[in-house]
Amino acid sequence: MKIFDEMAKNGHEQLIFNYDRTTGLKAIIAIHDTTLGPALGGCRMWNYSSEEEAVIDALRLSRGMTYKCGISGVDFGGGKTVIIGDPQRGKSEELFRALGRFVETLGGRYYTGTDVGTTYDDFVYVSRETSSVVGLPEEYGGSGNSSIITAFGVWKGIKACARTVFGSDSLSGLTIAIQGLGKVGGHLVELLHQEGAELVVTDINEEYVRDIKERYPVHVVAPEEIFGVSCDIFSPNALGAVLNDETIPRLKCKIVAGAANNQLKEPRHGDMLFEKGVLYAPDYVINAGGLIQVADEFDGYSKDRAFKKAAGIYDTLIKIFAIARHRNIPPFRAVDEIVERRISRIGDIRGMYVGE
Ligand code: NAD
Repeated sequence: MKIFDEMAKNGHEQLIFNYDRTTGLKAIIAIHDTTLGPALGGCRMWNYSSEEEAVIDALRLSRGMTYKCGISGVDFGGGKTVIIGDPQRGKSEELFRALGRFVETLGGRYYTGTDVGTTYDDFVYVSRETSSVVGLPEEYGGSGNSSIITAFGVWKGIKACARTVFGSDSLSGLTIAIQGLGKVGGHLVELLHQEGAELVVTDINEEYVRDIKERYPVHVVAPEEIFGVSCDIFSPNALGAVLNDETIPRLKCKIVAGAANNQLKEPRHGDMLFEKGVLYAPDYVINAGGLIQVADEFDGYSKDRAFKKAAGIYDTLIKIFAIARHRNIPPFRAVDEIVERRISRIGDIRGMYVGE
């Protein structure tokens, strides 16, 4: 693989390979763009089938973080760490402390936290070697569980979609199909139920399904059936790449809006949804609640302030949809341009010399 060509393609600034002799840690930190401020992005631990796959993932995910920070109005850039290893068996205190020491060498240029395959406990170890950690549990001075605010932001985002498509942001009486009843999906069910939505749900974890069914009047379908459910809104809260050549033709909804990261398998699938007349809420906008929460830690975390900012996802989406409609382009394309403009303009302002 031609690493510098790969970095140049999307304007990545830095790619750092970290190897620890004692633990065998293999961690790759990618920093995409720090125009707005230090890079911010979680640490994923995954059994990558090759080093190339890990590098590509770090580059792709760090770029995604630049866009998520850019649209969320926070002064951070995009970064990501990937650890090549088995999250079930490859973890130890020393491994995460070694990672912490590598992060510390970046001198505040990059902040990290949990992501797929890593937990709060892992990051308590990381934080013993570096202060460049966000999203620790409350008892360690962090803002704690981010899935509640993420679900809150998704709920607000779904309301913005409803207003755009149906003319009202009330979800009462609308049918919403929810894929994934995990940390975010579970909270989302509660918020949507409180508003009077009719819920059709699925998860591959039967325990989660049972738990939700005991607490709410939901209709359960098998995981592979969720795409074909006749509904007003389809909300993906499980995996990425769920919007693809196989699933899009099956969708019978007017809106797709959920928390899952990287929902479009490829950008062209966003175009397919647009042509089908389905409003797709760009994932990195609607699922930014967690990012908004950890970014707020830098101002001395205030739950009220973080939720107020996450509620702004509603207005952000309304604005994006209006611009997209005006230009007759899919919202996911409009938002990339809005972010690129913000980064470029703030970069220009920072070009002014203000003294040492
Ligand atoms: P989670 O692991 O707690 O929940 C995901 C759920 O999806 C699990 O219950 C799993 O069993 C289910 N699932 C997996 N494959 C499925 C399938 N094929 N069909 C149906 N269900 C399936 O994760 P989470 O924290 O709730 O996050 C959900 C999504 O939102 C992820 O894509 C995550 O990256 C994204 N996200 C989460 C946050 C956050 O704060 N937790 C923030 C931004 C984005």
